[in-house]
Amino acid sequence: MKIIVYPDPFLKKKTVSVKAFDKKLQKTVRKMFDMMYKENGVGLAANQIGVPYNIVVINPTKKKADEIIMVNPKITNAGGIVCEEEEGCLSVPGLAAKVKRFTKVSCEFHDLEGKKLKADIEGLLARVAQHEIDHLNGILFIDRLPEGEREVLIKKYLSEPKPK
Ligand code: ZN
Repeated sequence: MKIIVYPDPFLKKKTVSVKAFDKKLQKTVRKMFDMMYKENGVGLAANQIGVPYNIVVINPTKKKADEIIMVNPKITNAGGIVCEEEEGCLSVPGLAAKVKRFTKVSCEFHDLEGKKLKADIEGLLARVAQHEIDHLNGILFIDRLPEGEREVLIKKYLSEPKPK
């Protein structure tokens, strides 16, 4: 298992809803956390490891108690202010850029048992959630950049050798 990196077309495909809240889902989520910690990420979407389902994991602290699992997540409301902060992505290694995001979002999602939950989140967690839910819709953070900036960064990214 490895992280799928841009420009792999798999990252552009929308993922599908999880219907079965079973052992397999638990295993997938565990694999996602393991990979995320190994690669020093703060969030990961399932399609970044080749799993075509609506699953996101988030943890900015690496402490087990802070693990956030969102199955079939949806942003139902976005607010606060629009704030620009630097972002990177495990699927676009070596590249970072300032991205505009809302500072507060409301999310609806399922937990591992299929229970429907709601959460209002803000700050870094809100940023990470928007980044990861974008992944499920086939959107990368570079897609959120102004066109001119995106072109320059992608050109640079594609010209650099990638670790295998
Ligand atoms: Zn990402």
